[in-house]
Amino acid sequence: MHKEAPYYLFSIDLEDIRLRMDNGAQYKERVPVMIEAYLKFLNTYQAKASFFVVGDMAEKYPTLIKSIEDEGHEIGCHSYRHHTIDTLSPEEFKIDTEKNLEALQKAGIKNIYGYRAPVFSIIEKTAWVYPILKSMGFTYSSSVLPAANPLFGWPEFGKIPRQVDGVLEIPMSIQPFGIRSLPFGGGVYFRMLPAFFIKSLFKKYYKNNNAILGYFHPYDIDVEQEKFMHPGIHDSKLFNFLMYYNRGSVFQKLEMLMDLGVQLCTHIEYIQKQNFVSQVQKIELHKWDA
Ligand SMILES: [Zn+2]
Repeated sequence: MHKEAPYYLFSIDLEDIRLRMDNGAQYKERVPVMIEAYLKFLNTYQAKASFFVVGDMAEKYPTLIKSIEDEGHEIGCHSYRHHTIDTLSPEEFKIDTEKNLEALQKAGIKNIYGYRAPVFSIIEKTAWVYPILKSMGFTYSSSVLPAANPLFGWPEFGKIPRQVDGVLEIPMSIQPFGIRSLPFGGGVYFRMLPAFFIKSLFKKYYKNNNAILGYFHPYDIDVEQEKFMHPGIHDSKLFNFLMYYNRGSVFQKLEMLMDLGVQLCTHIEYIQKQNFVSQVQKIELHKWDA
């Protein structure tokens, strides 16, 4: 592979979809088990990842969230209640993000640099979030899918990280595939695409010296979760089928990539290695000290 380290910015969006559903509590609690499975995989390879944590998860599982940071992984924000940005006013967004930070601080988290919008919902018309993120002290965001997409996409954004209003945006990695561009590095596409194809896409991407962004959720690896209609997918039977598709293949594919020499990396570590910003500062959390 490329002589530069082929970085895979491995991230987990730490959320529980049951909390977004009416009567979600009737289904099994799976998030802590899934997080332990990711941590075990990461520890096997002595690799570090970025965990973007929804505020209500930090309130529910403070010890688990703190243990993730204590193991050397990065913790970032993923909103307080997982509302997509198009449904919020700037003032509501600010309050939501502050509550996210407060919940993480109360869980004992010390270092926060980054933000990931629910469902990658920063698009051209919600780009008003960047000055707000900047004012709150965020160094970076990783919230843009730079392609057309049935949910959220910003095709004109471009494929490589760039500053927007003082915040470094690291967009999702995409690869043209017929008339579409697919974010192959994580989630549903990573599950759907055959292993040999994932391998060839990774090799192709690294040839251009680009890091690949990987994003996963607790459910992406859960082969025991009950069947129900997932929230936030417009009640689409096809999307719901895809939500469950090929979850058992994720770790096999990840192990294949590790065997290729792919290096997992947190977002903030990558930013520092590439000197994307002159100075990295963590967010001041002291204002919520008890
Ligand atoms: Zn999410």
